Amino acid sequence: MYCKQQSPNCWRTCIFAALKLFAMQNLRPYNTFGIEAWAASFIEINDATELRRYLVKHNKHAQPLVLGGGSNILLMDDLQVPVFKNNILGKKIVWEDADAAIVEVGGGENWHGLVLWCLELGLGGIENLSLIPGTAGAAPIQNIGAYGVEIKEVLHSVEAVELASGRLRQFSASDCRLGYRDSFFKNEGKGRFFITSIQLKLSKRDHRLRLDYGDIRRRLEETGITHPDICAVSEAVTHIRQSKLPDPTRMGNAGSFFKNPIVPLEKALRLRELWPNMPLYEQPNQQAKLAAGWLIEQCGWKGKRVGNVGCHEKQALVLVNYGGATGREVWALATDIGASVAQKFGVEIAPEVNLWP
Ligand SMILES: Cc1cc2nc3c(=O)[nH]c(=O)nc-3n(C[C@H](O)[C@H](O)[C@H](O)COP(=O)(O)OP(=O)(O)OC[C@H]3O[C@@H](n4cnc5c(N)ncnc54)[C@H](O)[C@@H]3O)c2cc1C
Repeated sequence: MYCKQQSPNCWRTCIFAALKLFAMQNLRPYNTFGIEAWAASFIEINDATELRRYLVKHNKHAQPLVLGGGSNILLMDDLQVPVFKNNILGKKIVWEDADAAIVEVGGGENWHGLVLWCLELGLGGIENLSLIPGTAGAAPIQNIGAYGVEIKEVLHSVEAVELASGRLRQFSASDCRLGYRDSFFKNEGKGRFFITSIQLKLSKRDHRLRLDYGDIRRRLEETGITHPDICAVSEAVTHIRQSKLPDPTRMGNAGSFFKNPIVPLEKALRLRELWPNMPLYEQPNQQAKLAAGWLIEQCGWKGKRVGNVGCHEKQALVLVNYGGATGREVWALATDIGASVAQKFGVEIAPEVNLWP
């Protein structure tokens, strides 16, 4: 840094600029899309008390963003607001009887690590959610779901710190208002809370195995398992996911980019008359869920590459970074895909991924 004037003020400015640069954090290793963007301030949070202390001390800060494993975000630009990285660890059983146990998990715990820990203890209920990337604290945000199960079925409560006040808040499962890829934390509570821990109520015996979704049953048959247990289901799900989804450590992605659209049943049935193969899942209240991946595939996007980004060859719902992509490139592709689905089917598809900032 070359300073012509060399006045004390100028030196001070230069030193501050250098310090600021030093404090900036490249977020590329912190998002599974592998997109480069810089955070002006990156604060690692190891426990709830540390977080509350920080908020009280720096209460004039702009609204911070909470980062878990970065597996459901798209970085559109550098971030001027502070980023709080959730590193809060710990898992323990806090209550149990003969049939069930409640486990409490630090928000920064890796989700799949938690699934494996529960399997080791013989606790059932989240085996179908094996291998979902990210942290436990983010799981209620979009009510993670896979292979016919959502966290909604086992979530007991959530503990969170309110970012504006530093106050600790407890949420019951019903307070979280979990819906399909949706929750209180994506609506009225958006950006207002840092989830520090969650509690799950899991079964200790008579596990209710869910085998009818995707290829779980077929995979169990292939491996000769006639009486599956929760570990066998987890292994089957893990195998299926590994064979279908791109590994973010090899090819940047954030899983399903879009949510499956929910439309009035009447409209879905009219579309089905035109496209008899169109998957359609009836929902309560005369609604129907359509498969966004199928709609995208019919528009010819599957396997298509545009510059550094593309639509994955095996799973049209997944947008990928072939290397060096920006968030804006990914978003431009997503916008084009959304427009062609709207034009062909008259159906809007919304992103599941959170755009930052
Ligand atoms: C290959 C792949 C497969 C996937 N498969 C599935 C799937 O099957 N089902 C599914 O539901 N999802 C899936 N996802 C999406 C993703 O894994 C989940 O949404 C996951 O819960 C995100 O966790 P995270 O810690 O990475 O959250 P991040 O990406 O870090 O954050 C996501 C959002 O949650 C907020 N957030 C994160 N942590 C907290 C916290 N502690 N407190 C408050 N807000 C917080 C962030 O601010 C952000 O808005 C997949 C992603 C990938 C890359």
